[in-house]
Amino acid sequence: MNNALRREYLAALGLTTWVARGKVVLPMLEAANKLPVAIEPPAIEPAAIDPAAVGPPAAREAGVDWPELRARVAACTRCSLSATRTQTVFGVGNQRAEWLVVGEAPGAEEDRQGEPFVGRAGQLLNSMLRAIGLAREQVYIANVLKCRPPGNRDPNLSEAAECLPYLEQQIALIKPKIMLAVGRIAAQNLLRTDKTLGSLRQQVHRFGISQMPLIVTYHPAYLLRTPADKRKSWEDLKFARDVCAHV
Ligand code: SF4
Repeated sequence: MNNALRREYLAALGLTTWVARGKVVLPMLEAANKLPVAIEPPAIEPAAIDPAAVGPPAAREAGVDWPELRARVAACTRCSLSATRTQTVFGVGNQRAEWLVVGEAPGAEEDRQGEPFVGRAGQLLNSMLRAIGLAREQVYIANVLKCRPPGNRDPNLSEAAECLPYLEQQIALIKPKIMLAVGRIAAQNLLRTDKTLGSLRQQVHRFGISQMPLIVTYHPAYLLRTPADKRKSWEDLKFARDVCAHV
């Protein structure tokens, strides 16, 4: 991606640019471009959680292909959210993606359109991905829950537990190199923790039997409400990009 285009996406993230000596200087971009050679890869910490405790074994059921999995989700009534959804929101993107982006649950617009991360939050997510050189079409985007909780309330534990096997099956099919958990609810459900999002950022967590690296960052909907944290999100994305480069 050329610098002009990346500047455009960084601008969408609200990151400051300035001009010095007739040249556009992007401190964050320059730092990002130097990262692969300027620093050691992030230390891979031991698993923050017991990998055996993450992801129900039943989720790794053999022989489920994409059409079958999609059909099962579309027909699912395993929790009460099936009664209030307009439609299930399965996931979208490259089925062989290296990056898997996982959010919490569909919102109102996602429930209407049947696709995760649409609307303003989706546009910001696209810009976040573009800023690290990824098109939306290159990654796979899904949620922990496939149905919208009424009124956008937080999903409860049993709803998340019922739905997580579907995400596990998606992961088994995609075999991504890295997961990016966006938002507190997604991070807490995937890591089975009640820690704050702030305390989970900037660490390499591990997910599932494959011990896949999992990085936590803010949800774009939160960033729209709290633009001051966009810079932290940019740091998280650079961190994740660096981790992925060393997987
Ligand atoms: S949220 Fe998940 S488990 Fe609940 S009905 Fe929807 S697809 Fe099924």
